[in-house]
Amino acid sequence: MNSEKMDFVNLSDKEWAERLKPEEYRVLRQHGTERPYTGQYDQHWEAGTYVCKGCGADLFTSNTKFDAGCGWPSFYEGIDKSKITEVADKSFGMTRIEVRCANCGGHLGHVFNDGPKPTGMRYCINSVSLGFVKK
Ligand code: FE
Repeated sequence: MNSEKMDFVNLSDKEWAERLKPEEYRVLRQHGTERPYTGQYDQHWEAGTYVCKGCGADLFTSNTKFDAGCGWPSFYEGIDKSKITEVADKSFGMTRIEVRCANCGGHLGHVFNDGPKPTGMRYCINSVSLGFVKK
């Protein structure tokens, strides 16, 4: 099945709750955050592709992953701009830029402008929002 062809945008909350594990649902669908330094991809350095846990879309490659020391997997760039949606997030009295999977709307994390070269960006992503496909 090509999961990117499914109509993920119109899945109901109930359908998402059935598809995902509770922690995945909490982060992806309810904009939760996993506890830092606990995620399975924080210190994970195998070569491959990180995909959306909600829908399987390709999001990041291991080539752009770096250790930001913040406790979440971090990337300086996405695979393709069209695959990630940026949304202003004013929760918790801060203005941050939330990043979502463009294919299913799932919450991935936030992007900050304190990353390394060549982009200067830091995509700070929850491990539970990701799957990994080894190269
Ligand atoms: Fe997705």
